[in-house]
Amino acid sequence: ATPTAVMVGTGVGASQGVLIKGGHALESAHKVNCIVFDKTGTLTKGKPVVVSTRLLKNMVLREFCELVAAAEVNSEHPLAKAIVEYAKKFRGEEETNIWPAVKDFESITGHGVKAVVTNREVIVGNKSLMLNNNIGISLDAEEILSETESSAQTAILVSIDHELVGVLAISDPLKPGAQEVISILNSMRIKTILVTGDNWGTAHAVAKEVGIDTVIAEAKPEHKAEKVKELQASNSVVAMVGDGINDSPALVAADVGMAIGAGTDIAIEAADIVLMKSNLEDVITAIDLSRSTFRRIR
Ligand code: ADP
Ligand code: MG
Repeated sequence: ATPTAVMVGTGVGASQGVLIKGGHALESAHKVNCIVFDKTGTLTKGKPVVVSTRLLKNMVLREFCELVAAAEVNSEHPLAKAIVEYAKKFRGEEETNIWPAVKDFESITGHGVKAVVTNREVIVGNKSLMLNNNIGISLDAEEILSETESSAQTAILVSIDHELVGVLAISDPLKPGAQEVISILNSMRIKTILVTGDNWGTAHAVAKEVGIDTVIAEAKPEHKAEKVKELQASNSVVAMVGDGINDSPALVAADVGMAIGAGTDIAIEAADIVLMKSNLEDVITAIDLSRSTFRRIR
């Protein structure tokens, strides 16, 4: 393609909300034969909501929510925000923003949070966080976890004073059109892969719903990037689509990193292409634009 064609392609992209950072990104996009998608905030809306709570011990739900929200209120994680919103529903109008006093708040990336709330040790997060803290998981609790996960919801466990007391089920629905985008990519003979920090059960349920058959769950940020490199080593030209700080190493490693516009600044910085409208359809827009720019018959 001529420099003019590249300029035109980049301009057309910009007018459609697909920000392409330079000719190299535009050129690479049409060679992509494999796309790795992050889950939360990329395939899903990233606006999780708590849909139910199961208490395992005799405890008042409102009191439980107060402790959990207090532990989560200092976390930036979307799941934490969902939990705080949920807890507000159990309160009166005038007391919505002040939570019980918190000491020793600790955020464990990819796992959850720990805090001392009014002298009680509260741990909120995934199963491995509980296991790492030697908190036993009963058979009843295991059953709740697998039920929750097989319905594509994320189960968040809560322990108080080293005893598992409840499980929150959190739902984060797919973005509209997600299934269609995956099926179009498959028909373009582009392989799709889901990679997420979320647990195995939820990851597989979401993948099934959206039509992706290769899943990597419980992935740390460095695993996401390693997976991209592994695919490249087996001769794939890889695009990574993501929104989080977690995704930035993989966005950098990919042949084409695509960031969701509504994502974090660090992801947007790391990407070659930014999907300003945060639509998944624009993954295809970017590839089409590259194809029409570099495969134009002259
Ligand atoms: P993703 O790749 O899906 O964005 P993360 O790596 O951020 O996921 O988190 C992985 C898992 O760790 C979450 O699915 C959740 O179970 C747990 N987790 C992380 N942060 C929190 C938090 N603040 N509160 C509760 N659980 C959390
Ligand atoms: Mg994400």
